[in-house]
Amino acid sequence: MKKGKKLYEGKAKIIYATNDKNLVIQYFKDDATAFNNQKKSVIEGKGVLNNRISEHILSNLSQIGIKNHLVKRLNMREQVIKLVEIIPIEFIIRNVASGSITKRLGIEDGTVLKEPLIEYCLKDDKLGDPLIAEEHIMAFEWATKKEIEKVKKMILRINDFMIGMFRGVGIKLIDFKLEFGRLKVNGKDEVILADEISPDTCRLWDSITDKKLDKDRFRKNLGDLIPAYTEVAKRLGILHEQSNVSAVNVTKLSSVKRKRK
Ligand code: UDP
Repeated sequence: MKKGKKLYEGKAKIIYATNDKNLVIQYFKDDATAFNNQKKSVIEGKGVLNNRISEHILSNLSQIGIKNHLVKRLNMREQVIKLVEIIPIEFIIRNVASGSITKRLGIEDGTVLKEPLIEYCLKDDKLGDPLIAEEHIMAFEWATKKEIEKVKKMILRINDFMIGMFRGVGIKLIDFKLEFGRLKVNGKDEVILADEISPDTCRLWDSITDKKLDKDRFRKNLGDLIPAYTEVAKRLGILHEQSNVSAVNVTKLSSVKRKRK
């Protein structure tokens, strides 16, 4: 597979063309941003961990029949993915109230929700990704009713699977963000899961101590982001060796694992 020109650069990832018009390469950067790009930093090793964690989750999801864009991981920072037309909505799934909902609605942080709550935000940095109602999606034709019904069903299965996966390794899945895209299959549009699922896009708390193992370590200046993401990867069985994995070691581990395959 040949890597072509850069098609798009986002906050945490870059998309490159390939010699196959249906496939692109997704490159995970070390850049961290929060509060709609107002807070920025580079955290060495973050992209490597997110690439591995996202690969692990997406390939597990495909094993339970959740179609997604991942084709294969190429190396420590890149994966081959199917080119899709991204639906311009961020789907937020909440099991426990934290983050923006606590401020917006005055709900206490850590409140367990009786049922998973799905929120929709328009993917538009200039507007600050505003919260929208399901009706807005249809009114402005960002997606059809049929697509949203299908996405909601997929979301609930993904959430159930991920809650169980994380619970099994002593982690609570508080909330997360998903993106979906359209793919032409036999001339028909199909909606599949896209983007990434990683500690950048999920809130993950240790089951016993409630220690944050996600991007809130960056948002809230808690430090030790790489050890926290490494802890997630190790508990999921992605990284096996050593107890204190630094960014440099993460890089080494990735190449060792790759060679063994
Ligand atoms: N999230 C994300 N990208 C975004 C907005 C949110 O991945 O652009 C994730 C975030 O990491 C958290 C969940 O979605 O796991 C809910 O985020 P929230 O609405 O609480 O926003 P925040 O607190 O980040 O402002």
